[in-house]
Amino acid sequence: MQFIDLKQQQERIHGRLMENISTVLAHGQYIMGPEIRELEKRLAEYTGVKHAVSCASGTDALLMALMAYNVGPGDAIFTTPFTFVATAEVISLLGATPVFVDIEPDTFNMDPARLEDAVAALEGRSPGRHPLPAGFENLTPRGIIPVDLFGQCADYGKINKIAKEHGLFVIEDAAQSFGGEYQGAKACSLAHVAATSFFPAKPLGCYGDGGMVFTDDDALAAKLDSIRVHGKGSDKYDNVRIGINGRCDTLQAAILLAKFEIFPEEIELRQEVARRYNALLGASGKVACPVVRPGYRSAWAQYSVLCAKRDALLDALKDSKIPTAVYYPKPLHVQGAYAYLGYRGGDFPVSMKSASDIFSLPMHPYLAEQDQARIAEVLKKALS
Ligand SMILES: *Cc1c(COP(=O)(O)O)cnc(C)c1O
Repeated sequence: MQFIDLKQQQERIHGRLMENISTVLAHGQYIMGPEIRELEKRLAEYTGVKHAVSCASGTDALLMALMAYNVGPGDAIFTTPFTFVATAEVISLLGATPVFVDIEPDTFNMDPARLEDAVAALEGRSPGRHPLPAGFENLTPRGIIPVDLFGQCADYGKINKIAKEHGLFVIEDAAQSFGGEYQGAKACSLAHVAATSFFPAKPLGCYGDGGMVFTDDDALAAKLDSIRVHGKGSDKYDNVRIGINGRCDTLQAAILLAKFEIFPEEIELRQEVARRYNALLGASGKVACPVVRPGYRSAWAQYSVLCAKRDALLDALKDSKIPTAVYYPKPLHVQGAYAYLGYRGGDFPVSMKSASDIFSLPMHPYLAEQDQARIAEVLKKALS
C-alpha cells in the first residue's frame, strides 16, 4: 500500500504522457514553450480566474504574489502557524514579518475571529489582545495569507470581509486545495491572488516542481509575468524591477496537461475514498474524522484525523506496513527558524493541540476499498 500512489495514475495515462513528452522533445522549446500557455489557459478556465501565471514551484507562486504587492521590511502579513513552512518563509525572505493567527480546531484553517483580534491588536499596538511578534511596534498590516489546509478552503467570506475593512490584500495559499470548492467557486478564485503547487504529492502534481499564480487583476498579472522572468520590461534584457527566475519547465507543463485530462474524475474518486473512510472510522467515535463544512468541497490532498493516542496508532499501522504521515508535528511559531519572533508555545493553543494529535492516512484517487477496510481494522484493534 502506498501513502500516495502515483503509479496507478501513470498507468492510466501512460500513452498520453509519452505523446506529450515526445512533442516537447521534437519542438525543443524547453523554456516557455507552447505547452506553458496551453496549461495556463486550461487552468484559468477550470478555476474561473482571468489570469493564470505558471511558475517554478508553489513557494515561488507565493513569493511572486508578495513581490507583486511590493512587500518588504516593516510589513506585517497574517498567516497561520499550522502549515508547511513555505507559507511563512516567503514572508521572511522579503524582510517582512509573519503575524501568526490560530486555526479552527475542526478545519485546521485560519480562525476568522482570531484574525480580527490579531489585526485589531496590531493596529492598536495592544499585544494584550492577541499575541504579536517581537518588533510589532514598527509593523504595518499589509496582507493575509490564509491556507486551504489538506484540501479544504479557508472561510473566505469572513476573511475577505475583514481584509476589506482594514485595507489588506489576501493571497490564497491553495497549494493543497486545487480542485476544491467554496460556495460553488473553485479554489484559486477566492482571494485577490492565489498560489498553487504542482509538487508530485499535491492533488494535481507534475514529475518535479511547478506552481501557478492566479488573479483577475490585469495589472497584477502583468507584474507577475515580469517578476517571473527577472523583472523583464519590453524584453528580458530590459529589466524594470527586481524579479526571479521563476519559470515552469515546458516538460512539466506537458506532463500536467496529460494529468489534467483525468483530474476532474480523480477529484470525484477522492470524494468516494473520503466517504468510505468517514463511514469506516466515524462509527468508532475514537478518532475525529475530517470535518468538511456545508458549502465546501475538499480536494482531499490529505485525509487527516485526530486522536489523543496517536503514537500508539502510528505504531500499530507501521507494524501492519500501512504508511502514514504527520502534517504538521511542530507549528511554525515554535520552530527554531522563527525563534526571533519571540512567540511562546501557548500563544496558539489550537495549533499546538492539533500538532500533537494529528496524523494522515493513505489518500489518493485509487485507494482500494479492501485497503481502507484493513486500515480501519488495524485502528479499531489498536484502540480496543
Ligand atoms: C506544498 C506547499 C507549499 C509549497 O509548494 P512547493 O511547490 O513545494 O514549493 C506551500 N504551501 C503549502 C500549504 C503547501 O502544502
